[in-house]
Amino acid sequence: MAGILQGLSYFIRTFGCQMNENDSERIAGLLEAEGASKADLIERSDLVIVNTCAVRAKAEEKLYSFLGRLAKQTRGRDTLVGVVGCVAQVQKAALWEKKRLVHFILGPGHYDLIPEIVRDKRRERILVTSQSRLWREWPAGRVLHSNPWSAFITIMEGCDNFCSYCVVPFARGREKFRPGRMILDEIRELARRGVREVQLLGQNVNSYRDPETGGTFPGLLEAVAALDGIEWIRFLTSHPRTFATDLALTMARNRKVCRQLHLPVQSGSDAVLERMQRGYGRREYLDKVRILRDLMPEISLSADIIVGFPGETEAEFEDTLRLLEEVRFANIFSFRYSPRPFAAAAREPDGVPLDVKRQRLVAVQSLQKAVQIDTHRSFLGRTLTVLCQGRSKKGAGSFAGRSEGNQVVNFSSEAEPEGPFVRVRVTSCGPYSLRGERSGPDPAGPIST
Ligand code: SAH
Ligand code: SF4
Repeated sequence: MAGILQGLSYFIRTFGCQMNENDSERIAGLLEAEGASKADLIERSDLVIVNTCAVRAKAEEKLYSFLGRLAKQTRGRDTLVGVVGCVAQVQKAALWEKKRLVHFILGPGHYDLIPEIVRDKRRERILVTSQSRLWREWPAGRVLHSNPWSAFITIMEGCDNFCSYCVVPFARGREKFRPGRMILDEIRELARRGVREVQLLGQNVNSYRDPETGGTFPGLLEAVAALDGIEWIRFLTSHPRTFATDLALTMARNRKVCRQLHLPVQSGSDAVLERMQRGYGRREYLDKVRILRDLMPEISLSADIIVGFPGETEAEFEDTLRLLEEVRFANIFSFRYSPRPFAAAAREPDGVPLDVKRQRLVAVQSLQKAVQIDTHRSFLGRTLTVLCQGRSKKGAGSFAGRSEGNQVVNFSSEAEPEGPFVRVRVTSCGPYSLRGERSGPDPAGPIST
């Protein structure tokens, strides 16, 4: 049966986090279910969708420069342009007034409208940004996952935490939870199609409550771990305030849950954490790290760090450096503080000059780089189980994947790996990746690293 978008070609540009990537995979799935196909070039597409990120000013600027280029690329063509996602939500008025090129603007949660908007292609422009407190399910089974063996699954959306620097609760709205049976149905279907790793997504997965049964996140993890075919389970993001011992125990009990956790600390200073309204202090964070490492000594931890939060003194910043030395994260994502619309901290004078923020970011990144080189050296000579992600850019016979600890592993192999998991002997390393060669027979499933 021909869909309503038969013959249409589309192009999606995605900025931002894994949830945006997952939303784009869903949008692509909806369009293809109606007969549309992916265009390799903007110049050849009938429809261009930009899925946007508002978390820092820089991410937002990327949208505006993309739209600037797009105006030139689509000149003289009848291309339909849509802006969706977090910037669409928080900057709707500016986009509506200043970007006439944009035909439709949709906030998160309204993407199921896209096929009909595109089909109708009416002259009037469309804007939908209402927010709800209830989960809105997508049409079933229509997600175009980019990796055949690994998939993102959104389990909740939105945030009630209102950290003082953050725009997310305004962009994604308040917390909404997806019923567990829908999550499990989707994962069961993915497993049937060969997916072996799932990454459960939400702004704060710890606060998950099944809207139908009242079930908690640890309960959901157990249920996912019980599904045949699923071998590796990851989840993101866990807020340190609500990361409780029962979740650590559930992880430790279930060997399918990867020994890896993203636990964004943001700062090592109690005073800054207080001003950020994070709801935990340095000691509490370190206690949680200790519990995790007691239960799972090999666990690989990562975090987000913000430098130059309003009023951050040199001593407060030093506390962050000391925390990084103490915890020795496997990986961090570090950012300069960026004032955001609606966020409480944006009403304070920023106070930290740009060059100081820059220096602090360099200091954080070089300390972390040294920690990573050191940690990676300890992997030399070890053989790890790696989930393949495909060919790497380094030429013929080079492939890339990730270890259970979520480290990037580049490896050489004469033949293209057939299965999702391979064994790789680590022969060299850099600060951001491990390198090695394929070793021995491929495992049927993952083996502990
Ligand atoms: N829900 C997640 C984070 C989502 S935003 C959590 O609470 O951990 C991802 C990261 O962007 C945050 O962890 C934070 O480090 C960074 N970030 C958010 N707002 C920011 C801002 N205004 N300036 C700089 N970095 C910011
Ligand atoms: Fe933003 Fe804080 Fe919510 Fe994370 S927990 S999305 S940082 S408000």
